[in-house]
Amino acid sequence: MTRPGTATDPLRVAIVGAGPAGFFLAEKLLGQTAVTVQVDLYERLPTPYGLVRFGVAPDHEKIKNVTRSFDKVAARPGFRFFGNVDVGCHVTLDDLRRHYHQVCFSTGAQTDRRMGIPGEDLARSHPATEFVAWYNGHPDYRDLHFDLSVERVAVVGVGNVAVDVARMLCRTPEELATTDVADYALEALCASRVKEVYLLGRRGPVQAAFTPPEAKELGELAGSDVRTLAEELELDPLSRAELESADGPAARRKLEILEEYSRRPPAHKPRLLTLRFLVSPTELLPDERGGVRAMRLVRNRLVAGTGGGTRAEPTGQFEELPVGLVFRSVGYRGVALPGVPFDETAGTVPNERGRVMDPAAGRPVTGVYVAGWIKRGPSGVIGTNKPDAAETAETMLADLAAGARLEPAEPSAEAAEAQVRRARPAVISFTDWRKLDRLETERGRALGRPRLKFTSVEEMLDSLGARV
Ligand code: NAP
Repeated sequence: MTRPGTATDPLRVAIVGAGPAGFFLAEKLLGQTAVTVQVDLYERLPTPYGLVRFGVAPDHEKIKNVTRSFDKVAARPGFRFFGNVDVGCHVTLDDLRRHYHQVCFSTGAQTDRRMGIPGEDLARSHPATEFVAWYNGHPDYRDLHFDLSVERVAVVGVGNVAVDVARMLCRTPEELATTDVADYALEALCASRVKEVYLLGRRGPVQAAFTPPEAKELGELAGSDVRTLAEELELDPLSRAELESADGPAARRKLEILEEYSRRPPAHKPRLLTLRFLVSPTELLPDERGGVRAMRLVRNRLVAGTGGGTRAEPTGQFEELPVGLVFRSVGYRGVALPGVPFDETAGTVPNERGRVMDPAAGRPVTGVYVAGWIKRGPSGVIGTNKPDAAETAETMLADLAAGARLEPAEPSAEAAEAQVRRARPAVISFTDWRKLDRLETERGRALGRPRLKFTSVEEMLDSLGARV
């Protein structure tokens, strides 16, 4: 049996999920010279880039420049994009096994973690992930409604997503108008009556998950004051020890920023953002119509965690925070893939350096791999996916060299494309996407915005001359 990987018999790889991990993996595979590779990148939506398009906050335009390097990957020989194709629905894993030697899932973490407290599902309590997808124009979330007629909002969690959400709630119409926020979200946010936003951390300021630049940005909002409470910034012995650790410098920088916020005199801007620490919601309290009226909070103290680090322990001291809208920003969570093992506790696919493992059988699932958040969990910034994907690429090439791969019945680019077109005539190519991209940019330019996004699949297909 000859080994694929030559010009006449290329290694055929299907990558499922066109976010950063998928592109970084394609870049690594197509960029090496030892083996000739063909990559087909499948994506459920017509648009590529995953969380760069639907996760990165609209006011963080520069972060989105990473798509330029993804476009270079897409221009490489051997690369194809099959957008608007749902693997698991239009095409199954078994279908892919017919045409590829290797399949890698880079589907991210598509849902949210829960707080597990009473009242979590009251009206006006939402996962932050849905709000983020909504304001970024994700077609699956564009029809959601968030009641911005309330005056006080709580965002639970102090990670970078929570900070993004708080910032978007506090931005002025003028600040939002220069971003690529979805048009319906721009309208809703401009009409918002929100006056106070609370960011709630269950541990102390030293343990806050947000990064120093994001903390600093909160102090530079045109229409919102920011404050912290000095008594919540006082350090206990565990936090002082943490400041001396390897992560100490970043934590110290964050602490300095937060301390400055506690001393800052109010500028009496229209909105006020308050960062609280060492508090956990224990219950969301309803009003007479079943919507959130308030949040019951317990004060915490820090104790040493069993596996190192620290954890929050409730003190039994409670308070009630009157808020009419709650965003739970306590982390994303992976979703199981049909036909692929899944670790329900971790919300990830069990793997060894990207090689999917079947825990029941105690051996690898031949030819199936993972990269990005579905591999390691929802952590790190966009760039973290580069070494992560490189590790998976190394594993894939090592397995190929060792002869561990699928044996597709029809390992040809033409057969794979024919199958996709049969199952999903409205497949979107990268050329189609470039056209949508140009249209969005032109529509945006007319309004002084970086782009005006298409937010429904129908709109996108119509703009391409509808081929459904
Ligand atoms: P994250 O960084 O893991 O933060 C989750 C937050 O939720 C933490 O503050 C965590 O507190 C808290 N939390 C978890 N369970 C909780 C509970 N039951 N009650 C109260 N609080 C709870 O996750 P994320 O904010 O969703 O971000 C995901 C990843 O994307 C991160 O790596 C982030 O840096 C990245 N990201 C980056 C940017 C950027 O670079 N600008 C923007 C957005 C996202 P504990 O620490 O106590 O667990």
